[in-house]
Formats: sequence, C-alpha cells, structure tokens
Amino acid sequence: MYDVAIIGGGPAGSTAAALLARADRRVIVFEREKFPRFHIGESLLPFSMKAFTRLGLHEKFLRAGFMKKFGGEIIGACSDTGTKFYFKDGYRSQTDHAYQVTRDDFDKVLLDHAAECGAEVHEETSVERIEFKANEVTLFWKTRCPDEVGSARCADRTSQRDVPTTEGRVRARYLIDASGRTSVLGRQFKIKKTYDHLQKLSIFAHYDGVWRAEGIDGTLTVLIRAIDRWFWLIPLTAERTSVGVVLDSETFRKSKLKTEDFLEEALAGQPIIAKRMANARRVSQVYVEADFSYRSAQLHGDRWLLAGDAAGFIDPIFSSGVFLAVFSGELAADALDEVLDCPRKTKRLFARYEKAVNRAMDVYLRFVDAWYTKEFIEVFLAPRNVLGLAPAVNAVLGGNVGNSFAIQWRMWVFYFLVWLQRHHPIAPRLTLVPQPEECSAAFADAASSL
Ligand SMILES: Cc1cc2nc3c(=O)[nH]c(=O)nc-3n(C[C@H](O)[C@H](O)[C@H](O)COP(=O)(O)OP(=O)(O)OC[C@H]3O[C@@H](n4cnc5c(N)ncnc54)[C@H](O)[C@@H]3O)c2cc1C
Repeated sequence: MYDVAIIGGGPAGSTAAALLARADRRVIVFEREKFPRFHIGESLLPFSMKAFTRLGLHEKFLRAGFMKKFGGEIIGACSDTGTKFYFKDGYRSQTDHAYQVTRDDFDKVLLDHAAECGAEVHEETSVERIEFKANEVTLFWKTRCPDEVGSARCADRTSQRDVPTTEGRVRARYLIDASGRTSVLGRQFKIKKTYDHLQKLSIFAHYDGVWRAEGIDGTLTVLIRAIDRWFWLIPLTAERTSVGVVLDSETFRKSKLKTEDFLEEALAGQPIIAKRMANARRVSQVYVEADFSYRSAQLHGDRWLLAGDAAGFIDPIFSSGVFLAVFSGELAADALDEVLDCPRKTKRLFARYEKAVNRAMDVYLRFVDAWYTKEFIEVFLAPRNVLGLAPAVNAVLGGNVGNSFAIQWRMWVFYFLVWLQRHHPIAPRLTLVPQPEECSAAFADAASSL
C-alpha cells in the first residue's frame, strides 16, 4: 500500500512526488512515456522560482544549461517596437528571472529529481483504470516495455511477486491525477468542461538562426499580436527558438492548408517575424495542439486531487501552464502530507486546495479573456505608469496570483481602462493588421539580408 499514487510525471506530478518523498511518504509515479520526450510549454514564470528553490533544483537547471529569462515583450503586428517588461520591475518582485527551457530536458530533470528524492518512478507505464474504495484507491497499470519483462524494474511494479508481467495493479491511500491534458479522472468522472469561447489551435516548431536582441533583451519571450492571431518567439538556447502561432480553430480549418504551409504563410505574413526569421531554418517537425482551454468542474474527491493540466488549462498566452502545474503540485503535496497524518482534516484541506487552484486559474481566465479583445493590446501598448499599474500587471504576468489587495485593485483599474478604451479611447486605436507598405518594406529588408 502506497501513501500516494501519482498519474503523470510532468511538472505537476514530479513536483508533488519529490515533495511527498522528501516528507518520507511512500510515493509511486506512473508515466506513460519514456523521458526525455517532446512537450510544449517552454517559457517559465518567476513565481515558480520559490518552489524550485524548495525542491533544490536551481543547480540542476544551471547544469542543464537552461537560459535565464528576464521578462517579455508584446508587439502589435506591423510595428517595430513593443512594450517590454522585466520581472525585476514587478510589484514587490523577489527575483529578476525565470527560465526558458526545452521541455524534454526540463521534465527529465524534474522526474529524475523526484526519483532521487525517493519516489518510485515507472516510465512507459500507463494507468488504464482506477477503482475507488472507502479507504484506498486501486490503479490498474500497463507497461510498454516488454523487453524489460523480468527485469527488476518490471518485477518491482507488481509489488507482489517476483514474476515477469506487463500489467498489474497497485493500491494507494490517495491519488493525484497529474496526467496533463489526458485528464484521466476528468474523463472518468466526466467533469472536464471546455471553454467554448477559447477554442483555439496552435501550430509551432523549433528554428535555428532566428534574430534576437543583444544582452538580456535576447532572453525575453516575444509575443506578436495580430488581429485574429498571435505569435510567440521563445529563445531556448543560444541557437534555438520556439516559434508558434495561436488562432481560432475555425480560421485554420477554413484555410484548408496543411499545417506546415499554414505556419509558413502565417509567419511570412508578419513583417516583424519575417525580418527576424530571414536566416532561420526549421529544425523540428511542425506540431499542432488544439482545444486546450478547459477546467474540471471538481478538483478533488474523497481520495483524489487533480493537479496541473489535469485540473485545467487556460490558453498559452501568458505562459502560465508550468507555473500552475508546479503551484498545484506543491499545494497537493502539502495538503496530502497533512491529511496522511490527520485524515479528519481531509475535507477542509482538500476544499482549501481546490479553492486556491481555482482562484489562480480565475486570475488567468480573466487576463486571457481581456487579451483577446483589441482594447487590451491598445492599452498595453501605450503604457503610462499611473497608480503603479505597470508593476502590478507585470507581477501578474510573472505569476503573482496571490491575495494582495495592492495588486487586486490595480488590476481592477487596468480592466476598467480596457473597458473604457472600447467606449472612450484613452490610447491610440490599432488595426493590428500589417499595412501593405510596411510589409513590403520589411520583406525587402528580409530579402536583402538573405
Ligand atoms: C500551444 C501551447 C503552448 C504552451 N506554452 C507554454 C509556455 O510557454 N509556458 C508554460 O508554462 N506552459 C505552456 N503551455 C502549457 C504547458 O504545456 C502545460 O501547462 C504543462 O505541461 C502542464 O504540466 P502537467 O505536469 O500538468 O502536465 P504534462 O506536462 O502534460 O504532464 C502529464 C504527463 O502525464 C502523462 N500521462 C498522461 N496520461 C497518462 C496515463 N494514463 N498514465 C500515465 N501517465 C500518463 C503524460 O505522458 C505526461 O508526461 C503551453 C500549452 C500549449 C497547448
């Protein structure tokens, strides 16, 4: 009997596993894939740094060579300059940087770390079914490593007899579902609800040779906002950049283009990107993700908690995914550690967990809803640092989803200004459509630098 079983070895699962193992809990993690494996979600937020410190991960990150990220820049389509923000300037900022990471390496560092902390990790093992009883949970797993049948690793999994097997079951007192967008329990209980107004699609790939600024500006995540889509440029290493576009799924469907062609056309249609990518070379396949905004109606039951994307995900625009995964993984571990000592507190602690995770997701939902209005970007691109609004918005962009009233009232004012912009413009109106002459000038520039 394990104390806690975890489905998924992504950031949410490994964070929870490492913390519970360090608290001397008996933890087992099932991960369907063999790490390292490709995953999207490469730009991290500074509000995860405290958790990484607690986990003792910074040294491993530096050894892995992850790039420090000092902030971001948002640019309107067809303008050359945008609004930059640096994490050091966020309201009561506690750190000046986060990281840009290749997720295959990052997730492996985290999962290996969980194992080093004492969690029992089983890769290439998928959880197929879960049964709940009054005092325990049973997970039915299946391994994808028949060549290892009979090895200690596979025999271990049975936790019963030393016989070769490729499937089996384990019992645990509690379960964390950190299975990401697969959302094993969300599907089993039919509690996964999609946000119909955020049915977007993303097409992305990795490129070498994308132009970037000198110094710390070259570490910023760059977002380019066009009228019906937005783009990201995320520097990953000295050479490599992640480049992607997000738009309504319907717009892509209507284009009838193949994903590779769509991505190429979309990038070429934005002068600011075309300029930066004049010497770029695609070095990965083109990936597609769709319909990624949803939330579970319930984040806990008597014996289970949902963490990370399994609990919900609200659009990639503000790079909140890994932050929310680590945040909820940490909260889930802390709640379970207390519950294991004192089961009568379960109801209260699980309810508190659900409230905190929902609250954080609400902050992003509101921000994301505002982002998809044109007024948001018009106000954002004409910043005036009145009433300390800029540092407050900066703090939320960095992952500050706390209860600070000082930030909350400034965010209300910010949203009021966005609302005001619609009715009585306070900032220049933007078309967010590349102007033909600007585009042709940029294309000429791009062509001449080839
Ligand atoms: C287009 C796009 C861009 C994004 N960009 C960013 C970004 O820049 N920054 C950012 O922070 N976030 C970003 N995200 C979000 C980010 O990818 C996720 O929020 C993050 O990976 C969530 O971590 P997780 O641990 O909850 O889930 P995951 O990282 O998805 O991990 C879940 C794990 O569970 C495993 N699993 C699933 N089912 C089973 C099963 N039945 N049995 C065993 N294992 C199972 C999977 O193999 C997987 O490894 C982006 C998302 C999208 C769609």
